[in-house]
Amino acid sequence: MSKLEANRWFTEISDRDGSAFSLRINKKLDEVQSPFQKVEMYETTDFGNLMIIDGCTMVSTRENFFYHEMMSHPALFAHPAPKNVVIIGGGDCGTLREVLKHPDVESVTQIDIDEVVTQMSLKYFPELCASNDDPRATVMFDDGIKYMRDAAASSIDIIIVDGTDPVGPGEGLFNHAFYTSCLNALREGGILIQQSESPLMHMPLLKDMRRAMKDVGFSDLQTLPFPQPIYPSGIWSATLARKGSEFAGFREQDVDNAEFATEYYNSGIHKGALATPNFMRRAFDSE
Ligand code: SAM
Repeated sequence: MSKLEANRWFTEISDRDGSAFSLRINKKLDEVQSPFQKVEMYETTDFGNLMIIDGCTMVSTRENFFYHEMMSHPALFAHPAPKNVVIIGGGDCGTLREVLKHPDVESVTQIDIDEVVTQMSLKYFPELCASNDDPRATVMFDDGIKYMRDAAASSIDIIIVDGTDPVGPGEGLFNHAFYTSCLNALREGGILIQQSESPLMHMPLLKDMRRAMKDVGFSDLQTLPFPQPIYPSGIWSATLARKGSEFAGFREQDVDNAEFATEYYNSGIHKGALATPNFMRRAFDSE
């Protein structure tokens, strides 16, 4: 076992979690300080390229499919007929690529506050940006909080909040005001799905998010756990919430008949993610 030589490993030390995570690196590829955050890129020995934002691991070539597939497909298949999708954040464009695999989706608008993230992804994760020129896609750079506040009422079927942790520009993506804007912008039967941190490490935040979503009027909340190898604890989650809707469950047959490829998501994984682990169920039952 190689000892942790400072100059051969990238290590994220998570003070809030009392944990650290390292990936062995060959070299640093790039670094840009944007008006919003510091974006770094590394070439790793075993995980491909690695994007870091303000010291936190964001995306690597090898494992990003877990996250991007679980941030997109469960919500799209849990909606009877999604046409108009908005992604808040998602600057690496991996979630955008997954959404555009759905042929019946008519438009996807992505609003990330920081153009540097997309510029870096275009250069170091071109495979994640492969669908950016799809005529259905609009890639914008603005504050997602403002965008949702100004969005037309009942104009969106699915909102995906692929934001950073609730710090810095991402902080305002986890509160009542933002969820109220999302509820207003969704059509009846619309779905909000948001990356909801680690159910093992961040349960108080996750409960606050769920409570705020319920308080503003969302229903049928589902927190879907999934593996996330490069984030603190390795287990992450996405929380899905509906605006009204008679539709329950998900279009299982459509998942099985889908003509596009995924690396992780399938109907069994979707069903498994709906089987809430006991430690999470106990926490949610006390809501
Ligand atoms: N965790 C994802 C993954 O593993 O692939 C990547 C998350 S994505 C890079 C997070 C994005 O949220 C960043 O690009 C950041 O610029 C964006 N973001 C943070 N606050 C935002 C805001 N208020 N409005 C829009 N985008 C925001």
